[in-house]
Amino acid sequence: MKTEIVKIDSEQIDETEIKKAGEIIKKGGLVAFPTETVYGLGGDALQADSSRKIYAAKGRPSDNPLIVHIAEFDDLKKIVKEIPKEAKLLADAFWPGPLTLILNKNERVPYETTGGMDTVAVRMPSHPVALAFIRAGGGFIAGPSANTSGKPSPTLAEHVALDLDGKIPMIIDGGEVGIGIESTIVDLTEEVPMILRPGYITPEMIEQVIGTVKIDPGIIASDSGEKPKAPGMKYKHYAPKADLTLVDGEPEKVIAKINELTEELTAQGRKVGIIATNETEECYKTGEVLSIGARDDEDAIARHLYRILREFDDMDVEKIYSESFATPRIGQAIMNRLLKAAGHQVIHV
Ligand code: AMP
Ligand code: MG
Repeated sequence: MKTEIVKIDSEQIDETEIKKAGEIIKKGGLVAFPTETVYGLGGDALQADSSRKIYAAKGRPSDNPLIVHIAEFDDLKKIVKEIPKEAKLLADAFWPGPLTLILNKNERVPYETTGGMDTVAVRMPSHPVALAFIRAGGGFIAGPSANTSGKPSPTLAEHVALDLDGKIPMIIDGGEVGIGIESTIVDLTEEVPMILRPGYITPEMIEQVIGTVKIDPGIIASDSGEKPKAPGMKYKHYAPKADLTLVDGEPEKVIAKINELTEELTAQGRKVGIIATNETEECYKTGEVLSIGARDDEDAIARHLYRILREFDDMDVEKIYSESFATPRIGQAIMNRLLKAAGHQVIHV
């Protein structure tokens, strides 16, 4: 299959191209599209066959449910059993935006879309191109991240093309995404709301709107044996080809340790990558050093993370050492992705 890559400008949306994308969706085909978090691989969420195609294109295990993207709050009631008041409050506060709600699904949503579950994940993205595309495609777009399962999520259309070229008819190129890590997921089907995946919307922001929330212990535990409740969180994920290890501790000690380990491997003729910050990149003497951004600019760290992991793939490094980034607001979300990419290998210094 030939994949057409179509540039669409958020400021000036090309209605003809959007309509074409919508037609592909309505006929049961797939289109990759930009959102403010990462690129999504879209199909009609209400057609079982479209969801099957999504799993096949990504090589995703079929028990890992998809997020349904909507463009109007009014459409929510068409796919869920009931709308609890917390859902209304959170939607008022954060939609359109990087927050996904888990609710009880109704019979319109096929089990293929929800990985066999009676609940459905729903989000209204804020990216203008995503919203136009969802409307053109009939209003309900199942859209997991548009990467091959297990690889870092795509933050540029080029990443999508590397993973999915030849497998889908169309990729909408909307440039680099704004946030760079996937949405926060909140489960509203239990007594107390629970965060299943950390993201740009923090637990504190959610608690300000609906009161106490729990955090799924499975998302922060390393090898505690806790099973995360979002099926997708149990898979090794977001991972570059090279083996990644985080080094955590006082900045000077971290730099010294990474230098020592990199020199050792380099001396053995192995190619090593280092994830540094603007403040520290000059401190590394050997290895391929990439800066993720300024240490106090956590938005930049989130936005660059997946791109850097993919850049190291392109350089064919065998080993990556990364500083850790427990930044104040979205540090938990950033570290959650990095720890998963590292398979929880951390050296504390
Ligand atoms: P992605 O679309 O790649 O961001 O992955 C979607 C994430 O949402 C995965 O981690 C899924 O396991 C999670 N998810 C989707 N639907 C549900 C659901 N009904 N219950 C719990 N987690 C879900
Ligand atoms: Mg994903």
